[in-house]
Amino acid sequence: MEKKEFKAESKRLLEMMVHSIYSQKEIFLRELISNASDAMDKMYYKALTDDTIDFDQERFYIKISADKDKRTLTITDTGIGMTKDELEKNLGTIAESGSLAFKREHEIQDGHDMIGQFGVGFYSAFMVAQKVTVLSKAFGSDEAYQWQSDGVDGYTIQPAEKTETGTMVTIQLKENNDDENYDAFLEEHRLKSIIKKYSDFIRYPIKMDVTVW
Ligand code: ADP
Ligand code: MG
Repeated sequence: MEKKEFKAESKRLLEMMVHSIYSQKEIFLRELISNASDAMDKMYYKALTDDTIDFDQERFYIKISADKDKRTLTITDTGIGMTKDELEKNLGTIAESGSLAFKREHEIQDGHDMIGQFGVGFYSAFMVAQKVTVLSKAFGSDEAYQWQSDGVDGYTIQPAEKTETGTMVTIQLKENNDDENYDAFLEEHRLKSIIKKYSDFIRYPIKMDVTVW
């Protein structure tokens, strides 16, 4: 499978995330939940303006699943999803997102605490992840695709299977080291407190699912 390279700008932001010495790595969850919420807003507005769309309120929620055995964390949404082109465009280049403003600011100010104040976006997942997998099916499409990356050296996109419209972001946590116990992000109480701290205003229900083994 062909591995594609990130654009130069994205690569630099990614590098910053991967080697981040920033203490509040937990904000990656805020970013992923905010993306999930944005995607559901987009779906919601589509449904408002198109009465052929059957809008079922019950179906609109975000799910956080932790698998302690595999050491993965998955954020599932039932939002608008992404096509193959959108995966490429939205996750392959940060020029498309608000993250760029952050990066410019950061270069001038030089301080890791800047991360807390700006939406650093999707790439913040790489503060805690050794590999990120995005499985997505766009609204109106019957094809699903999987985007995968282990960081700066690129990403792959391939056809995949998914029944429901929406996106699943799976984080394979980094190995624990002397400075950081990444396993803590698999603990229900830790996840709950992070969500309470940063995502209290999210208007969709956030469900949790922790598998011990
Ligand atoms: P921002 O949210 O500021 O635009 P991000 O880096 O967080 O920047 O995300 C980049 C883009 O990737 C988003 O603008 C969106 O188009 C797309 N994206 C990310 N996560 C999702 C998701 N769960 N569902 C649909 N699109 C997403
Ligand atoms: Mg975002």
